[in-house]
Amino acid sequence: MEPILSRNFDQKTPLDLAGFRDRGGYASLNNILGRPRDELLQEVKDSGLRGCGGAGFPTGVKWGFLAKDAPHPVYLVINLDESEPGSCKDRQILYRDPHTIIEGVIASAYVLDADKAFVFVRGEYRSGAEGLEKAVQEAREAGYLGKNILGSGYSLDIDVHLSAGRYICGEETALLNALEGRRGNPRSKPPFPIVSGLWGQPTVVNNVETVSHVPYILTKGADWFKGQGINGGTGTHIYQVSGCVNKPGTFELPMGTTARELIYEHAGGLREGRELVAFQPGGTSTPFMLPEHLDIPLTWDGPSSVGSRLGTGGLIVMDDSICPIDYLINVVDFYAMESCGFCTPCRDGLPYLVHVMKKFEEGTATDKDLALVEELCDTIFPSTHCAHAPGAVMPVQGALKQFRHVFEAHIKNQCCTLQGGQ
Ligand code: SF4
Repeated sequence: MEPILSRNFDQKTPLDLAGFRDRGGYASLNNILGRPRDELLQEVKDSGLRGCGGAGFPTGVKWGFLAKDAPHPVYLVINLDESEPGSCKDRQILYRDPHTIIEGVIASAYVLDADKAFVFVRGEYRSGAEGLEKAVQEAREAGYLGKNILGSGYSLDIDVHLSAGRYICGEETALLNALEGRRGNPRSKPPFPIVSGLWGQPTVVNNVETVSHVPYILTKGADWFKGQGINGGTGTHIYQVSGCVNKPGTFELPMGTTARELIYEHAGGLREGRELVAFQPGGTSTPFMLPEHLDIPLTWDGPSSVGSRLGTGGLIVMDDSICPIDYLINVVDFYAMESCGFCTPCRDGLPYLVHVMKKFEEGTATDKDLALVEELCDTIFPSTHCAHAPGAVMPVQGALKQFRHVFEAHIKNQCCTLQGGQ
């Protein structure tokens, strides 16, 4: 497999424009700008590239929804808000190779005939945003941005926007509200942003990893990209491993790499004497996978086949020193804190779920509380305005099946089963 997104990660500091060009950077634009957009869109469709922010929707199909007679200006908004606990891949590209992002944005915006691009950066990534801003300025001065890029007749500029810092701003419509200077609450859909997005204009929202793949797909071809994957996967993905492993980190690997390979080869395996209990394949909002799922390829479809989701590919490992209930209390508490407050099941339901789950750790839970946890999850899941609250309860719903015996043991023993034994 050729490293694509991480090909310049061997540098101690991010490459400046000259260094990036020395390694072939921006060369793709000579090949892309001026080519028929239909042809390029078909190449993206054929590549099988899917949204790397966690949704996994086919990128070419999404781009195809943009009407041919869409009123201009058309906007391309890059989601670099990466706030899902356990996910840190977009940060790697931002901090280690910002020109890769710019090249990806230009290539993608050209295919969409977008007039302006915005990169929405997570508030905590301030110095990364400053580095990206500097790279944008270099690219502008070199004629890769601005009017009539490389004499192609195509014009584009990029604005870097630093988020005020709120998890829900990673949801695409909340992100658009925040860009417009409003409170970052999710909007109702339809209309979808591709019809009416930023300031009511057609807007395509893509994750930063997704667009960073595009120049390479358009120059090397869809078949080449597909060939980078294994086990039915397409292209590469920046997987991240955290939790109870010896060497947590980020690894660009073929899409379709198994959790076994990620955990035991790349992330150094589990701590001595510990056993794997479960892992979440793509951040804290993804349901647990179990040791028997270690050989399932981490593709968009692999984890779904056992009731989980690939999500961001931010794999979190839990060994037998961790109480699943205690862990989930922290997870749900995070989502409760980050609720935008618009709908009651999320705003009030999640804190109540935390309250009930804490009883299990405190040793005061009864059978009624177990039924209540189940009922709360089943009530919250289908009744909210956006996917925030469902994402919070999905791992709990999974755990109620996978670790029911742990809930029952807490009730029977009137304490956390791990207390004193970690
Ligand atoms: S589910 Fe939560 S985050 Fe989403 S709109 Fe409702 S209150 Fe806001």
